[in-house]
Amino acid sequence: MYYNSILDTIGNTPLVKLNKVAKEFEGTILAKVEYFNPGQSVKDRIGLKMIEDAEEQGLIEPGGTIIEGTSGNTGMGLALAATIKGYDCIFTTTDKQSKSKIDLLRALGAEVKICPTDVEPDDPQSYYSVAKRLSKEIPNSYYPNQYDNPSNTQAHYETTGPEIWEQTEGNVTHYVAGMGTGGTVSGTSKYLKEQNADIKTIGVDSEGSVYKHYFETGEFDKDEIHPYLTEGIGEDIIPENMDFDLLDEVVQVNDKNAFQMTRKLAKKEGLFVGGSCGAAVYGALEYARNNDFGEDDVMVIILPDSGTRYVSKIYNDEWMDKHGFLDSSE
Ligand code: PMP
Repeated sequence: MYYNSILDTIGNTPLVKLNKVAKEFEGTILAKVEYFNPGQSVKDRIGLKMIEDAEEQGLIEPGGTIIEGTSGNTGMGLALAATIKGYDCIFTTTDKQSKSKIDLLRALGAEVKICPTDVEPDDPQSYYSVAKRLSKEIPNSYYPNQYDNPSNTQAHYETTGPEIWEQTEGNVTHYVAGMGTGGTVSGTSKYLKEQNADIKTIGVDSEGSVYKHYFETGEFDKDEIHPYLTEGIGEDIIPENMDFDLLDEVVQVNDKNAFQMTRKLAKKEGLFVGGSCGAAVYGALEYARNNDFGEDDVMVIILPDSGTRYVSKIYNDEWMDKHGFLDSSE
């Protein structure tokens, strides 16, 4: 038994019960562990889908170049699909991202351009603007734009949602995911709510992002924006892929709580995951505590990526201490 290419191993990731970190609850709390994907993150799903849809629509020709602004994981997903399908990749990213994430992209043959974090999204130096400009300058190039590309949400509608429904045999009552582009939370939520409208979807945001305030008031408040270190969730824009109508609640988590939970997941559950996973679990447990999560309830939390990309940060005591994230009890 074998797969025709590595791309056929994307998806069908396992659900794993959280035992120790969720022991205060009688209901079932499950993690969907996306580092089982070949590029070690949930973003393999959308990398493949965005390229396949572009091919179908004639937006990219053989030998073309894929250009995207990415924090790393989407780049990895795109690079995997591009390698197998014969495209070049150029990625723009910010100087906030882990060096190991950038090295990984280069390992798969991609060119990576590093742009400053502390500029407005419409500044010509921002990683959004540089990706857009290059896609106009380079012939036969395709700019997937994961923020506004409907294939992103659709990938989760077609894969993540049905997997969760089948794996829980239709018993899922709560779905929790971090909010980056919005693709994971919106696409999966859409599918699950179509199966059972009573399923609650909880989006997890980072302190310093505009999402929670926007969800609660419908207003974009620039004053909410401040720098934070959790990678992959929270935004300073409202992407097309973020459908707030598919969310029941948004929980905001700060870096310290996210990173301490990330380390706990490794030490207590054997789940060596990234910082947005700690944020998702911390936010999920806070929601469960405040909302009478009962013994018949089944919560599924998406854990988007692996800890290997954060060994020199979240899993490094000196780095954690320098940022004031370590407690004396640790
Ligand atoms: N966590 C990590 C580590 C990510 O890279 C991303 C993607 N930005 C997310 C969470 C959020 O996923 P989405 O973009 O689908 O909202």
